[in-house]
Parts: sequence; C-alpha cells; structure tokens
Amino acid sequence: MRRGRCLCGETRWEFHGEITWACYCHCDDCRRNCAAPVVGWLGVPMRNFKWLGVGPKTVESSKGVRRHFCGKCGSPMGFEADHYPGGMHLYAASLEDPENFEPAFHVNYGSKLPWLRMNDDLPKYDGTLLTSPEDPKGYNQG
Ligand SMILES: [Zn+2]
Ligand SMILES: [Zn+2]
Repeated sequence: MRRGRCLCGETRWEFHGEITWACYCHCDDCRRNCAAPVVGWLGVPMRNFKWLGVGPKTVESSKGVRRHFCGKCGSPMGFEADHYPGGMHLYAASLEDPENFEPAFHVNYGSKLPWLRMNDDLPKYDGTLLTSPEDPKGYNQG
C-alpha cells in the first residue's frame, strides 16, 4: 500500500499493487497545471486506487480529460482521461515517500524547456505512448 497527500493534507489517496509505469512529462499542460518545469507521473489501475478523506475537486482541462486537485489548498492530485479508461495518473511528488520513485522514461520530450537540464540516460519520447493501464510501457497524457 502506498499513500499520497496534498500540501495541506486534506486530499489524500492510496493504492495497492504495483505502479504500472513511471515517467517524466514535459508537455505544456502538465507544466502549467503544476507550475513546474517538469512533472513526475506514475500510473496505477483504477481498481487498485482510492481517494481518502474528503476527495478532490475536478476540472475538465480539455475534452475528456479530468484533472483532480485539492479543493482547499489547490495542489494537483490526479489525472484521468476518457482515452485512458481504467487508469489513474498520480503525481510522484505527492507520494508520502517521493524519494522512493524511479522514473523509467520521458514523454513529450520535444516540449522540454531549454533551460531544464536532465542528464539521465532514460528513453526520451517526443510524444506519448498509447497503451493500456496494465502495460508497464503505457502512458497517454492526451
Ligand atoms: Zn490540500
Ligand atoms: Zn503532460
């Protein structure tokens, strides 16, 4: 079981089982949503996931894409999309233990900010990978 929380602690979640995939996203939407130069993501099957406490508020950031956030402190808390049914995307930095996270690849690397220097040797994809929530390579930000 792994847990995560927002800045104020009112919105919390937990999941059991394995993380399906873990990556960095450099797309402009994620960046603006988090006001951060890059966003660390992990994916879990929805059936292994649940909100704790009061649960998040949700905004439809583009058609069929729902971004969850804490209604009290505003922290981004999750991502779901119609084109990615059955999967919940969570922010690695929300983990109770964010130091225990191992991103495996980059997506939307073509949008990386020029001043952000990342010298890892992970695979770097310009777009996203289109697979299912059960697939370790799966990632679809949309
Ligand atoms: Zn909060
Ligand atoms: Zn993104």
